[in-house]
Amino acid sequence: MDLVFTAEELAFRDEVREFLGNKLPTEIRDRVRLASSYVPREDSVRWQAILHAQGWGAPNWPVEHGGTGWNAVQKYIYDAEYQAADCPRQSPFGISMVGPVICAFGTPEQKKQHLGPIISGERLWCQGYSEPGSGSDLASLSTRAVPDGDDYVVNGSKIWTSHAHHANWMFCLVRTDPDAKPQRGISFLLMDMTTPGIKVEPIISIDGHHYLNQVFFDDVRVPISNRIGEENMGWTYAKFLLGHERTGIAGVGKSKRKVERLKAIAQVELDGGESILKNTAFRARISQAEVSLQALEFTQLRILAQEKAGQPPGPEASTLKINGTEVEQTLNELMIEAIGNYAAPYPADAQDLERNEPPIGPAHGVGLMQERLLRRAATIYGGSNEIQRNIIAKAVLEL
Ligand SMILES: Cc1cc2nc3c(=O)[nH]c(=O)nc-3n(C[C@H](O)[C@H](O)[C@H](O)COP(=O)(O)OP(=O)(O)OC[C@H]3O[C@@H](n4cnc5c(N)ncnc54)[C@H](O)[C@@H]3O)c2cc1C
Repeated sequence: MDLVFTAEELAFRDEVREFLGNKLPTEIRDRVRLASSYVPREDSVRWQAILHAQGWGAPNWPVEHGGTGWNAVQKYIYDAEYQAADCPRQSPFGISMVGPVICAFGTPEQKKQHLGPIISGERLWCQGYSEPGSGSDLASLSTRAVPDGDDYVVNGSKIWTSHAHHANWMFCLVRTDPDAKPQRGISFLLMDMTTPGIKVEPIISIDGHHYLNQVFFDDVRVPISNRIGEENMGWTYAKFLLGHERTGIAGVGKSKRKVERLKAIAQVELDGGESILKNTAFRARISQAEVSLQALEFTQLRILAQEKAGQPPGPEASTLKINGTEVEQTLNELMIEAIGNYAAPYPADAQDLERNEPPIGPAHGVGLMQERLLRRAATIYGGSNEIQRNIIAKAVLEL
């Protein structure tokens, strides 16, 4: 594995760094620094428009649909710079998930209808996969779609649907053949969220924000022309999409920023009158997290080297999800621990840049508890870490 970037790759890194440094609006950067995960919809839409104007709106798409044509190393460099510059996460559902599916399997009409509004940020999507009772065992899903003339009539419910309350469209897995083997009777539908019969109910998460929802379908008529690919072949497209969902999930750049923030906090927080950074036991835990992060980065580079040699990432990419989310959770916990009790209170508006009241605790603690609580879910969503371990056990270790 060659770990040295070429002169062209370094020039590309400088170009990306300069663009992100100059074009990311300061107030959006400040909000990301404060709130980390919570990005208001207006900020993501505004930032997506800036990326799109640069031609970088959808780095992973094929060039003919507005992608960049970057190779694996360029994408890696871009991701690392993007996270290090405190850019808001792009809404993944359109750009990273359904966009590539439509590019690969959509009809010409579906491409025409959806790709432009996704890449410009005008149309937001949500993911209707999980159901009450069907999460890890996704193939057991029971939301039913029955053909009736030119439409399917859909009944059932989806749960944990992130941002369904903002989304204009949903991509959704439905059961079209209840008698076939679970994976064989599923279809992949695109649904306009304004269709009569769709009801979105909020689920407020432990950090007090509204990202999650339960969505109910009551005789919802979805044109058959909104189906991706063949009827009952939805599992194939769903798996293709999950492969895209898990790329970039290691979050090395983001965790590196967290290490910096942790050290800055530990430097000024006191333990027995001395900086916590002088506490050997605490310092050892920071080092341990840093070592795990470095190991993760090398694993990512190894997978990248394979990709560069023409080998697509295999099931071992699951290690990126497991280790990336675990390191992130450890770093969040260490920051809270360093601050102690004053990390606990977080008024709902504490991350509002216009708020004119001082924070209850130290300014460097704002948003940390919210981030820690929200990211508790990182080892669950996108396929839980236990399921990722099962994948490694079966497909890599052949157990
Ligand atoms: C914050 C958040 C956002 C989400 N956003 C979305 C979204 O936008 N769209 C969407 O469709 N879904 C979304 N999800 C749902 C997510 O994909 C599921 O929560 C996840 O797949 C786990 O399913 P489950 O919640 O039904 O848990 P279960 O599958 O019931 O699992 C419960 C526990 O048992 C373990 N377990 C289950 N099966 C096995 C096994 N075979 N071996 C070992 N352990 C096992 C799991 O790891 C877990 O710890 C979101 C979830 C969260 C928390």
